[in-house]
Amino acid sequence: MAQHEHVRVAVIGSGFGGLGAAVRLRREGITDFVVLERAASVGGTWRDNSYPGCACDVPSHLYSFSFAPNPDWPRTFSGQPHIRAYLENVTDTFGLRPHIRLEHEVLKMHWDDAELRWEIETSRGTLTADMVVSATGPLSDPKIPEVPGLDGFEGKIFHSAQWDHDYDLRGKRVAMIGTGASAIQIVPAIQPEAGRLTLFQRTPPWVMPRMDRAISGAERWLHDKVPLTASARRRLLWGIRELQVSAFTKRPNELGLIESIGRSNIRRSIKDPALRAKLTPSYRIGCKRILLSSTYYPALAEPNVDVVASGLKEVRGNTLVASDGTETEADVIIFGTGFHVTDMPIADRVVGAQGVTLAETWKDGMESLRGATAAGFPNWMTIIGPNTGLGNSSMILMIESQLSYLADYLRQLNVLGGRVALDPRPAAVGAWNERVQQRMKRTVWNTGGCTSWYLDANGRNTTIWPGTTTEFRKATRSVDLGEYEVIRAAGASAGTADRAVEKEAV
Ligand code: NAP
Repeated sequence: MAQHEHVRVAVIGSGFGGLGAAVRLRREGITDFVVLERAASVGGTWRDNSYPGCACDVPSHLYSFSFAPNPDWPRTFSGQPHIRAYLENVTDTFGLRPHIRLEHEVLKMHWDDAELRWEIETSRGTLTADMVVSATGPLSDPKIPEVPGLDGFEGKIFHSAQWDHDYDLRGKRVAMIGTGASAIQIVPAIQPEAGRLTLFQRTPPWVMPRMDRAISGAERWLHDKVPLTASARRRLLWGIRELQVSAFTKRPNELGLIESIGRSNIRRSIKDPALRAKLTPSYRIGCKRILLSSTYYPALAEPNVDVVASGLKEVRGNTLVASDGTETEADVIIFGTGFHVTDMPIADRVVGAQGVTLAETWKDGMESLRGATAAGFPNWMTIIGPNTGLGNSSMILMIESQLSYLADYLRQLNVLGGRVALDPRPAAVGAWNERVQQRMKRTVWNTGGCTSWYLDANGRNTTIWPGTTTEFRKATRSVDLGEYEVIRAAGASAGTADRAVEKEAV
């Protein structure tokens, strides 16, 4: 990296969010930008998660960019290798490679209030940027619970997102910790290999049958030759999910109707009443992410599998002790224990206008304006920020809405002209979060009787969007300058920033 390099925009991360931002910047005519990526290739969570069985539980025709349709998706729910290849392909198709700086981990970034720009320290030098787009994603930093005695375990340990493909599971005593979306894909994939597989289940998930099938050659041909058919397919997938939203957000009792499908999914494969009882959830479906699998329960019914209906509490030597006192010997522990979502690690590395980190600012809970910007952090935007997650549809829809907001933000900066920055007004941030939390009260995520990673340490839901994707798209179509403080540099290139310029004065 050249010394004192300055760019218009620095994007951090090259998953769906970062690559999407890069495409959008180019489409807006902005070519003066870099994408800083800590790993050696693009792909984000779809690069890191290569565990056996890894696939997306949102249909591929919806879980892809609207501006980059892929007529060749091989299955209705594509596997990780295909999604990763898709992102590599997007990178090439849209000419993003020259912008991407691989193995450039962002160590720190701080806002320079005099120069109105971000100074970004990476593992390979520093640069400055007028604007930062933080697309590090909520599922990027694996979380391993602090289990007493884990350090003394003599066997192998790894997380679902850091799979050790060199480690041979054949014949081993495998302990799988967790029963989230990752674990339920891993279990059926490794069960045939494992000598003994013990699943530590703290809370049983609701698991619905997964209607996966190969997409026929004829369908692919049609999608290729008549692109309208692919977009119609996408719209149908989207529309069905959009119609489901009100049950999640306003009428969780309606969801009770589909619990019977989940129960019959258990009954179909699990004949042992004691195991059935262990696997049957006691909270409203949808409170935690609804999981899709037609192979999970059959795998649990296999003779080499035990389900411990309790969390991992302690490790003594090679013995795993569950909260209910059950003891299990293991050669390998696989943690399917999720990610740092509500305490995103990048927040420790972002220092705003008042010299405080985003992590300190968010110590009582993440709060942003429209899921994008944070008060005290001018010209900093996050993709998949607070309350932009979905419980039942494709995150790519939300990402694309955020990219529209980003595009308008940059247009507004251009219109304002000169050295200028936008900082969301605390009152606007407060009002937005008040509205979001008000709507959250009736949702299944808050009332369904479970705890989940959607909730932060204070029990506040700071991850999920409590509405339809259409509502979010409308809310992020354009930037309302009234919600921002416009900051201008007092002098041409130095001096203190002149804040408090009202919208009317712009
Ligand atoms: P997760 O949903 O956060 O699940 C973590 C699991 O670990 C939970 O079952 C949790 O139990 C359990 N756990 C934590 N500490 C434990 C302990 N000490 N003992 C036993 N269990 C413990 O993580 P994830 O499965 O990696 O999924 C994270 C997110 O990634 C998903 O929700 C989804 O958004 C995404 N994902 C998507 C797909 C896809 O198909 N699109 C696939 C994989 C992942 P509790 O339930 O009791 O907390």
